[in-house]
Amino acid sequence: MDIAVQTTPAVLILLGPPGAGKGTQARMLEEKFGLVQLSTGDLLRDAVARQTDAGMRAKAAMDSGGLVSDDIVIAILRDRLAQDDCAKGVILDGFPRTTVQAEALDTLLGETGQRINAAISLEVDDAAMVERVSGRYTCGGCGEGYHDSFKQPKTAGVCDKCGGSDFKRRADDNAETVGARLEAYHAQTAPLITYYDAKSALQRIDAMGDISAIAKGLAAIVEGATA
Ligand code: ADP
Ligand code: ADP
Ligand code: ZN
Repeated sequence: MDIAVQTTPAVLILLGPPGAGKGTQARMLEEKFGLVQLSTGDLLRDAVARQTDAGMRAKAAMDSGGLVSDDIVIAILRDRLAQDDCAKGVILDGFPRTTVQAEALDTLLGETGQRINAAISLEVDDAAMVERVSGRYTCGGCGEGYHDSFKQPKTAGVCDKCGGSDFKRRADDNAETVGARLEAYHAQTAPLITYYDAKSALQRIDAMGDISAIAKGLAAIVEGATA
C-alpha cells in the first residue's frame, strides 16, 4: 500500500544589509533546490513601475532609502505567497525587515501549517556595502545580477544567462541613499537576528568571501535545514 508522504514546502529567509548578496545567492539557491525566490524589493519595484496603489504609496520611501510601511509590504508578500508556484518552497529575500513583518510572517505560515526552516544572516562589513551596491547592475531581460568589478558577464555587454544586452541600474543604488538604507538595516532589520536566534532558527554565514564559496556554505545550510 502506498502511503502518501505529506511534505510542507520549505521556507528560508535571507537576512542581510543592502548589497550583502541576498539576491545573488537566492537566485543560485532557486536553481539548485527548485525553490522560488521572493524578493519584496522586486515586487515593490514592479508595483512602482505598474503604478499600482501600493506602488505609488511605496515610491517615496524607496527613493529615499527608508523602509516601505509594513502594511503595504505584508499585503504584497501575502498575495505572492498565495500563488501556486510557492508550493515548491520559498526563499524570502529582503523580507521580513521589521519585527512587525516577522510576526506577520509567523501568523501567515501558521495558517497553512508551515514553519521557517532557517533564517540565514549574511554577515558583511558596512564598508564593503557601498562598493557592492554602487557597482551593481542587472540584466533587463532575465534579472541576472552583475557587478562592475566583482561579477562581470563572460562576454562584455552580453548576459551569461539569456544573451540579452539590455542592462539596468537601480535609481536607489547611489552612495547617498545607501547610507540611509544601511541605517534602516541596523535600526529596524538587525534586531531580527535576535528574534530568529530566540526561535533557534538562526544560521550565520560570513558573506565577505567569494560568491561561489558563500554559495557552497549556504547550500550546506539549506540541505541541513530542509532535510
Ligand atoms: P542584495 O540582494 O543583498 O542587496 P546583491 O545580491 O544584489 O545584494 O549583490 C549586490 C552586488 O554585489 C551585486 O552587484 C552582486 O553582483 C555583488 N556581489 C554579491 N555577492 C558578492 C560577493 N560575495 N562578493 C563581491 N560582490 C558580490
Ligand atoms: P537591497 O538591495 O537594499 O536589499 P531591496 O531590493 O531588497 O534592496 O529593497 C529596495 C527597497 O525596497 C528598500 O530600500 C525599501 O525601501 C523597500 N523594501 C524592500 N523590501 C522591504 C520590506 N520587507 N519592508 C520595507 N521596505 C522594503
Ligand atoms: Zn539575462
